[in-house]
Amino acid sequence: MNARRALVAANWKMNGSRAANDAWLSEFAARKAGLACEVVVCAPYVYLEQLQHALQRDQIGAQDASAHEAGAYTGDIAAQMLYDAGCGWVIVGHSERRQWHGETDAIVAQKAERALQAGLQPIVCIGETLQQREAGKTNAVLRAQLAAVLQRIGAERLARGALAYEPVWAIGTGRTATPEQAQGVHVALRAQIGIDDSAAGRAVRILYGGSVKPANAAELFEQPDIDGGLIGGASLIARDFVAICAATHT
Ligand code: PEP
Repeated sequence: MNARRALVAANWKMNGSRAANDAWLSEFAARKAGLACEVVVCAPYVYLEQLQHALQRDQIGAQDASAHEAGAYTGDIAAQMLYDAGCGWVIVGHSERRQWHGETDAIVAQKAERALQAGLQPIVCIGETLQQREAGKTNAVLRAQLAAVLQRIGAERLARGALAYEPVWAIGTGRTATPEQAQGVHVALRAQIGIDDSAAGRAVRILYGGSVKPANAAELFEQPDIDGGLIGGASLIARDFVAICAATHT
């Protein structure tokens, strides 16, 4: 047991409709009583306002924000706009953004900084691909991804949001890191953050993401350095998402 309050974030990705979201929010409201963890729902931009009918600012998140403050960036959304629209959180550096939108470690770090400047709590995602894991590069890749963020915002500001370890080979594949594998990585990440600032290393919440579901959540969340989860596929079903939240150890 540790002093960090568990956090479970839903990442709906590019899914949902007004009707489906209303049904999700009603079912969540009906089932959420007694949950001890902090909950965040990260929805597509166009549905963020809809979430405000049922959730507070600190429970509403976006899935990305621009690295720029404002200006001629057609199609992009600035962090301040997300705050203005009622968001409290934003995911940055998700592997799908890195893969399909060419986001580098430097861009991800810049996005985390913009988010903080706008008053948002960033959930900074890092993770290795299967190819990198098989080449024995997991530690080096994670270390570099985290270092870029620490260099830009520092450990104390990182700890105002959360770090998410998401092995790319486990996202949406049904393959999950074993609890021991994930715990080992989380310990190493926490130690790296602790070099920058030991209090921040102890305080920062490190979430695990990658095919978390009701059946495997408890064994992952039992690990002392896994402080919650970032949940993709299983978060689309409110009942499953609540079951995952209920498996946290706080
Ligand atoms: C994610 O995309 O952040 C994720 C963890 O997805 P899934 O739970 O579907 O693997």
